Amino acid sequence: MQPRDLSAHVEYVAGRGIEEVARELGREPDELIKLASNENAFGPSPKAVEAIRDRAASVHSYPKASHADLAERLAERWAVDPEQVWLANGGDGALDYLARAMLEPGDEVLVPAPGFAYYEMSARYHHGTVNEYQLSKDDEFAQTADTVLSAYDGERIVYLTSPHNPTGTVVAPAEIERIAAETDEETLVVVDEAYGEFADVDSAIELVEQRDDVAVLRTFSKAYGLAGLRLGYAVTPSEWADAYARINTPFAASEIACRAGLAALDDDAHVEKTVETVEWARSYIDDAVEAPTYDSQGNFVLIEVGDASGVAEALKHKGVIVRDCTSFGLDDCIRVTCGTKPETRRAVDALNEVLAAR
Ligand SMILES: *Cc1c(COP(=O)(O)O)cnc(C)c1O
Repeated sequence: MQPRDLSAHVEYVAGRGIEEVARELGREPDELIKLASNENAFGPSPKAVEAIRDRAASVHSYPKASHADLAERLAERWAVDPEQVWLANGGDGALDYLARAMLEPGDEVLVPAPGFAYYEMSARYHHGTVNEYQLSKDDEFAQTADTVLSAYDGERIVYLTSPHNPTGTVVAPAEIERIAAETDEETLVVVDEAYGEFADVDSAIELVEQRDDVAVLRTFSKAYGLAGLRLGYAVTPSEWADAYARINTPFAASEIACRAGLAALDDDAHVEKTVETVEWARSYIDDAVEAPTYDSQGNFVLIEVGDASGVAEALKHKGVIVRDCTSFGLDDCIRVTCGTKPETRRAVDALNEVLAAR
């Protein structure tokens, strides 16, 4: 037998793990620095680590209380009702829930190009069809309502990424509002704020309260340093937030994930240190790299290096793993995650050496 026709589906190619690359190079993992997947350079919040250890002996129980507690805690943080918080297995899981709640077979969605690959993968899993709006290098990948609306053709879901991966640009709140207002009543605008903590703009969650056609995605993977745990959520309008109960897997986030998430929310110091270092690293990279960079509001910087694959490969041999953006359609750019100060300095030195030798 065979699965259904998956010929239109593409595999998600994640940045490679540090062990994998170390093995290939015949080096120790601790000689390498990985700045390829926008992970938190400081690791997880120590409070989350403690919660994970503490709760290990309780994982025989379904996460009933912790799931409810986390939804309540996040609802408080964003001044919404707990029902509006759709917990999920990572932000990716929350994207799946939104697609599952919205799409009928054949419905169309509109995604950014370049952009985050999972929007279209998720839409296709849910029998949707994918159209793109183009962000252009000519205007530094600016994300305006005009850009999105000129490509819009009645799609059921429009995905916005703010800050955008891999370019780092944001969508101004007024532009999001215009997009929501000028698209059809039955079009959902999903605002992906996976990197929201690093940005200098207000969350679009305010709009979720004012309208019934905007949902916002957030994750614990980036600023909170819990990527390996898989914990994220969507904040959805109260008008249809009850759909979650009918489409989610009963406990969408695990006991360990919920407990760690609750602990991480109590650790402002960790997030503050992370955000401050990211701000330092963005401006350091911008100043010190001898190649054009794009202004970023995420925890990464897009750098125009010419032959991206060649430069990424050469950097790897110097022990620095970065993201070659060829798979995003940007074969002349690499994306470098903000590391700790020593990591970032070492990455910039290595990159400048590689560039000088070309
Ligand atoms: C990292 C990321 C996410 C979510 O990742 P999860 O680990 O599944 O929470 C969502 N959108 C963008 C643009 C991202 O870069």
